[in-house]
Amino acid sequence: MTIDNFNFAGKKAIVRVDFNVPLDENGKITDDTRIRGALPTLKKILSDGGSLIIMSHMGKPKGKVNPKFSLAQIKDDVAKALGCDVKFAPDCANADEAAANLKPGEVLLLENLRFYPEEEGKPVGIDKEDPAYDAAKKEMKERQKAFAKKLASYADVYVNDAFGTAHRKHASTAVIADYFDKQDKMLGYLMEKEVQAVNNILSDIKRPFTAIMGGSKVSTKIGIIENLMDKVDNLILCGGMTYTFAKAQGGHVGDSICENDKLDLALDIIKKAKEKNVNLVLGTDCVAADSFSNDAKTQVVPANAIPDGWEGLDAGPETRKAFADVIKNAKTILWNGPAGVFEFDNFTAGSRAIADAIVEATDKGAFSLVGGGDSVACVNKFGLADRVSYVSTGGGALLEAIEGKVLPGVAAIND
Ligand code: AMP
Repeated sequence: MTIDNFNFAGKKAIVRVDFNVPLDENGKITDDTRIRGALPTLKKILSDGGSLIIMSHMGKPKGKVNPKFSLAQIKDDVAKALGCDVKFAPDCANADEAAANLKPGEVLLLENLRFYPEEEGKPVGIDKEDPAYDAAKKEMKERQKAFAKKLASYADVYVNDAFGTAHRKHASTAVIADYFDKQDKMLGYLMEKEVQAVNNILSDIKRPFTAIMGGSKVSTKIGIIENLMDKVDNLILCGGMTYTFAKAQGGHVGDSICENDKLDLALDIIKKAKEKNVNLVLGTDCVAADSFSNDAKTQVVPANAIPDGWEGLDAGPETRKAFADVIKNAKTILWNGPAGVFEFDNFTAGSRAIADAIVEATDKGAFSLVGGGDSVACVNKFGLADRVSYVSTGGGALLEAIEGKVLPGVAAIND
């Protein structure tokens, strides 16, 4: 079932959203992107004449009630965003009455799902090495099913619009779907858009396809790099991993970030790229700094000849041009991870060059997906988020999807 084809009139819908919004020390929301992201789905249900039960996690309360992570803190913001009153259920597993009393057009927000260990379904207080662990895990899985069944009992329809947690098989993100018929469960609009964006990158590829992987380490990106190697025409590897590649090929990287235990891996990636005819583009020059700070002294040096006492913190001008030239001609673009320490204003040029080239390609008709934590922060910092095709809201979920893994939150609806 798709959300567009469903008429929610007279139905109670329980919707899993990702309202894990950042709060300041006074419990005030500092960034409401995630609430805004869920609005199309929530408003569709209300405007059809349905009633709405909203559920989410916030933070990591580790299965215990903790006022610091209470969703009561954001109830008024949700009400304001929806333009209507929002009732609050202070115990998500005992909201039967509040749910039963909901009338069409009314909204109930459940307290943080992760106040119950059943949500994540991991046994608590027992070590993995403990001989009793397997039994505890089995018992917790049963409790998780009962918890999911309880949540499901509040509503006629289940909608999952929480892409940020789609890679987790939690009670509210996946297990709950077992308690609804196929025609009564669906993805929300945000989830649909995310799934479509990943599909554009992994299946419906327009060529040339250029992926830009940056960030600090190659080790955390290897799953994605390997999956992409079978799909891309051009693979730009930048950021801190530049120096692991430079050293692996016999270069001198001074004090740059470098994973010495991943040199073989870097050589293997270079070999695989050749075998698969992938144009691997690595940085040739860099902006080296004499300390890890915004105000450090800098010099442009070859990425494989960095003096001791200096560390590469950004892509150099020759590299920036090479990256931009490849990106500008692409028809499909994926960007994950910055080309330098973009948090320091003096080391944003590499990431900026990538972002500008992506915008140029997008203007010429390319599909561009920016996702995974820091690259999203980059396009936001540069004010370019509206100039790319899609900015993903899901960090870990997006990366797992790009690695080619099936997301339990999506599979639970579609299978
Ligand atoms: P990741 O979480 O692996 O995507 O890495 C993102 C982080 O990589 C950002 O905080 C950047 O500051 C950092 N980063 C990018 N380039 C470098 C570099 N050359 N040296 C050290 N850190 C870097």
